[in-house]
Amino acid sequence: MTDPYSPISRLLHHRTQRLARGEPVALPIVAASTFHQPGDPDGTHFYGRNGNPTVEEVEEEIGLIEDADVALFPSGMSAIAAVFYAHLRPGDRVLVHADGYYNARGLLAAQFGPMGVHVQTAATSDFAAADFAGVKLALIETPSNPGLDVCDIAAVAAKARAAGTILMADNTTATPLCQRPLDLGADISIMADTKAMAGHSDLLAGHVASRSEALMAPVRTWRRLAGAVVSPFDAYLLHRGLETLELRVARANANAMAIATALSGDLRVSGLRYPGLASDPAHGAARRQMKGYGPIVSFCLESREAAEGFIARHPLAAAATSFGGVHSSAECRVRWGDAVPAGFIRFACGIEPVSDLVAATLSALDA
Ligand SMILES: *Cc1c(COP(=O)(O)O)cnc(C)c1O
Repeated sequence: MTDPYSPISRLLHHRTQRLARGEPVALPIVAASTFHQPGDPDGTHFYGRNGNPTVEEVEEEIGLIEDADVALFPSGMSAIAAVFYAHLRPGDRVLVHADGYYNARGLLAAQFGPMGVHVQTAATSDFAAADFAGVKLALIETPSNPGLDVCDIAAVAAKARAAGTILMADNTTATPLCQRPLDLGADISIMADTKAMAGHSDLLAGHVASRSEALMAPVRTWRRLAGAVVSPFDAYLLHRGLETLELRVARANANAMAIATALSGDLRVSGLRYPGLASDPAHGAARRQMKGYGPIVSFCLESREAAEGFIARHPLAAAATSFGGVHSSAECRVRWGDAVPAGFIRFACGIEPVSDLVAATLSALDA
């Protein structure tokens, strides 16, 4: 019989349904590097790098929303690295977004190129038209960060399948509540849980999710051998964030839609991008595969100086990188070398009341 309840309800009651009398309702933090294990190993916990009950509980919770097997990592980049190290070998071809999170390309260039892996890139907006012949692994990111372009995941997945390519989707900007790459045919979904999943800007974490045991087993092996394990304290904070994920995502998405709507048509702003806007070039593809359009709005002011002034004047935005937190934040992406105009701002919405955030944003635009 299939469970009639949504993944979020099941996540919230994952623990409560299995409690013995007198056990805490909240998730205990098991702070342990070693576990009682006399005699021969019997599959129970014995050492923290091999498994921790708090971490495994959080993996099961994320597994409910991904509807997949999940391996947790200490950052989004270590989750991406795990897939690359587990599945790429000298001579392989990898196809990666040209305009998504820059450290994914940086890792390939610094570590895998010198080992004989051939790295090709394709722009997110025409990833489905890329040449997949001989490609072992492809990494898409949609909406892309920071440019917010979109690719049709099902179309890319069909091409990848035909070419025998493993398709990996970075779902950080959307979250599985708004977009489901595994349902659309991707083989692996990865996320920086640092962002919306944890949601409070107080930890780094990431995960790899897949419905293929053949793809997950080498990822787990790499994690165990390389020691890229998340601490039980951080896993606990992630668990706390997950309990409010649906509420936070709904508010942040509503904020982003309201900001984008308020800025569209404003003559002081150019290059406005938000996949939820009907006028956005990515809206058609986004609407087919997304249930919500994420917390990030991007736009340009006339200069770096104007952009920095806007950020400094904004009463409800932290001048900070990252996104998916409870407080709004904004930054000029040119400072990281992204291929964007000097006045390009990535505005990451938090969970402030919608009317406050819109009013604050419009007031900050008034120099
Ligand atoms: C932040 C981010 C990452 C990396 O996550 P970390 O936890 O910082 O390592 C990967 N992909 C995207 C889209 C991100 O925004």
